[in-house]
Amino acid sequence: MDFGLTEGDSGVVARATGFARQFSETGGTPSWDQWGDGGWTGLCLPGEFGGGGYPALASVLAFEALGRGGIDRGALFALGAHLFGCSMAVANHGLAEQKAAWLPRLASGAAVGALAFSEASGGSDLDACGSELVAEGTGYRLSGAKTCVTNGSIADLFVVLARSREQRSPFAYSMVLLPRDTPGLSVTPIEGVRGLAATAPAEVVFDDCPVAESDLLRRGDLGMAQMLDIMRWERSCILAGSLGALQADFERVMRHLSERGRHQATDHALARIRTRIEAARWLMLQAAWRLDQSGSDLLQPSMSKLFVSEAIAECTGELRRLVAGAAWRGELGLADALDDALALLSASGTSEVQLNTIASQIGSGL
Ligand SMILES: Cc1cc2nc3c(=O)[nH]c(=O)nc-3n(C[C@H](O)[C@H](O)[C@H](O)COP(=O)(O)OP(=O)(O)OC[C@H]3O[C@@H](n4cnc5c(N)ncnc54)[C@H](O)[C@@H]3O)c2cc1C
Repeated sequence: MDFGLTEGDSGVVARATGFARQFSETGGTPSWDQWGDGGWTGLCLPGEFGGGGYPALASVLAFEALGRGGIDRGALFALGAHLFGCSMAVANHGLAEQKAAWLPRLASGAAVGALAFSEASGGSDLDACGSELVAEGTGYRLSGAKTCVTNGSIADLFVVLARSREQRSPFAYSMVLLPRDTPGLSVTPIEGVRGLAATAPAEVVFDDCPVAESDLLRRGDLGMAQMLDIMRWERSCILAGSLGALQADFERVMRHLSERGRHQATDHALARIRTRIEAARWLMLQAAWRLDQSGSDLLQPSMSKLFVSEAIAECTGELRRLVAGAAWRGELGLADALDDALALLSASGTSEVQLNTIASQIGSGL
């Protein structure tokens, strides 16, 4: 399939490979300043606000190259949450003043973004959102709490899903832009997570936070539609770094097995893993390509999230089985790979949530 990549698109992938090399040689992880200096914090944000202006497909390929080049999967997930979750929400749904206020800082990495939708009582179920906006004077007050928020410990801007107490209709949701220094907003880092440790996750509490009408991501009750649109970006793009890292893991395991002497059992396992990686990759690229074609459905993003996250988890488990002793000794760079892969299964909506979406999109005649 010809996705119509331009020279510029291919160039950014080559640049990602070079950027990753600097860090894989030293074993370090880029700081937010380094992400910003490299242009990665604004990769697909509009050029007029200092972004790279790259399409979703080129962005996904660049993330894949960063992961294949050895950048930590948690750091890439955090960058993805900043870019595809928070910053693209502002770019695609923000008012002109909101874009002018936030996008240049988000694009340069001067501000870090987070998307806060999960709640302890509801988890992946967006309908269970209990954070409430209550009208007061010309504005609102926000109360509630979000959990597992990627970048929550360090974010300068939170894009928050909340519902309106006054209107309990299914459409009565708003997306709110909350700067870190909003009175009543507090953050508690979540320590000791298993998997994707570099995501700086946090619990975020809103205690009667003042919210002006101009802090709503566009006015009106379009919050749930906006949230689902934001999810299209996140689900289509955020796993690209981890899929790239899996490709590198696969190459290392294959080299290791080749040195030790391969046989049919290991060859069949490698063939199955390679085929799954390829299938996952095409589904992910197709979902990103459809974003660039202004596709508006959630079917491709959810199919991609479901398949890619499960492929990463299953292939990583299989790779570890193939080199069990070496992996257990912490060799071949697989020490954290399985925990990282398992965390991806519930990030951006669990598999069950993706299945709900896919089933609803393909109709009820199953
Ligand atoms: C690495 C990582 C990063 C994350 N980043 C963020 C972030 O940036 N922002 C944010 O807001 N959240 C984030 N989350 C939270 C994530 O989106 C989930 O909401 C959270 O993991 C809840 O976990 P859960 O689904 O297992 O829990 P629960 O929602 O309690 O679900 C328990 C089980 O019930 C199933 N289930 C729940 N609802 C339904 C339903 N309607 N139909 C069928 N089955 C259902 C789930 O699939 C799961 O198997 C992140 C999570 C992880 C692991």
